[in-house]
Amino acid sequence: MASVTADLLAKYDRAGPRYTSYPTAVEFHEGFTPERYFEKLDQAASNPEQPLSVYVHLPFCRERCSFCGCNVIITQRPGVAAGYIADLEREVALVSTRLGRRTRLVQYHWGGGTPTYLSLEEMERVWKSFADRFTFEPGAEIAVEVDPRVTTHRQAELLKRLGFNRISMGVQDFDSDVQAAVNRYQTFNQTKDLHEHLRGLGIESINFDFIYGLPQQTPASFRKTIQLALELRPDRVAVYSYAFVPWIKAHQKAIHLEDLPQREVKLELFGIAHELFTGAGYQQIGMDHFALETDSLARAARERTLYRNFMGYTTHPAKDFVGFGVSAIGDLGGAFAQNTKKLNRYKEALDRGRPPIERGFERSKDDEIRRDVIQSLMCNFYLDVRAVERAHGIDFASYFRESLLELDEGPGSNGFVTRTPDAIEVAGPGRLFVRNICMAFDAYLKRHEGEKPIFSRTV
Ligand code: SF4
Repeated sequence: MASVTADLLAKYDRAGPRYTSYPTAVEFHEGFTPERYFEKLDQAASNPEQPLSVYVHLPFCRERCSFCGCNVIITQRPGVAAGYIADLEREVALVSTRLGRRTRLVQYHWGGGTPTYLSLEEMERVWKSFADRFTFEPGAEIAVEVDPRVTTHRQAELLKRLGFNRISMGVQDFDSDVQAAVNRYQTFNQTKDLHEHLRGLGIESINFDFIYGLPQQTPASFRKTIQLALELRPDRVAVYSYAFVPWIKAHQKAIHLEDLPQREVKLELFGIAHELFTGAGYQQIGMDHFALETDSLARAARERTLYRNFMGYTTHPAKDFVGFGVSAIGDLGGAFAQNTKKLNRYKEALDRGRPPIERGFERSKDDEIRRDVIQSLMCNFYLDVRAVERAHGIDFASYFRESLLELDEGPGSNGFVTRTPDAIEVAGPGRLFVRNICMAFDAYLKRHEGEKPIFSRTV
């Protein structure tokens, strides 16, 4: 990884979106109603030949990791999950009826929480509620997030039998001091055991998630963590920058700002992951993922055909994407739609036969153009300017005059991008600052200037 000076780091380490969507979820509002969502589903139903992506949120965990940024329900009370699954089944029935013959899935993902918090019977029930109403296309990505601390061999065998072909394991860090600091105790052997069992079952693709920037992490400890990961050689790894957002996730207040690695150390931590993974035959994908060079994500990145949605990087994007379960976000007919995060409201909406949508956002033409630009830069570190002009009927240079000026005076002047009339390419250390580069094309950021913090920091 190219070197970055302390001055550059200070200049670009600022609050900014991760761009899992554009516009970001901060712009969602309650003016997007359940009725409007029904209209979007009806519209989607009129294209039955088009495939869909589906995300299912299974929110339960037994204990909370103090760094967690997910929408999670911590409970050990028996029966809560069973009640939730009954509600989820009603949501699947309601939405799939509205979708009519639009039943083909190219991407299907269980996220959480901890999907394997559920019992074997509960997992089968969730699967059946979808399998009875949707069909999986050949080669569909069928993915699940698992926690090695709670996932049993029998659950792994069930996942394989049901058809899951991509498994993502939360690891975060193998160091015991870091684990104590974030209340997540997971031995290397727990991870190794589950990994070996999944490999033995013939699971096609296994991903490990790591986080850098956690309390107690040091360059030496993180190097050891990555070396241990390399002993297992997962197909893909994500190395996320820790998003410290205690103003959004109150439980993160258990972590103190002064215990977090400084930005220079954080950069070094990522540099270690980059050095070790790329040195071991992995290719960097987007800003924080690595995949073995033979992996389909790595191939797509080389061919600049990689996409990204709320489920992560993918080679299988469907134009429309439906979210199920509390807090799930869908993207249907040019609009984002998010379910309520509260279990009781989720249930109440379904009791009344209404989709549990709480807020959303309908994109304008300008949003769609900027979204394409940001998506391409985030995924492929490259933008084909002429393709954007053709797709949207614009003259790029005049449409983005202000953005290009901002780019040239900021990241461009530091050598983070190279620009010709035909293309914008993220160069060298610019990969680390790709969020900052995308921010030049974001029409909403300025509206939030001076407000209380919204986003995590970019480094
Ligand atoms: S297991 Fe995952 S989802 Fe659950 S609290 Fe920990 S980080 Fe959050």
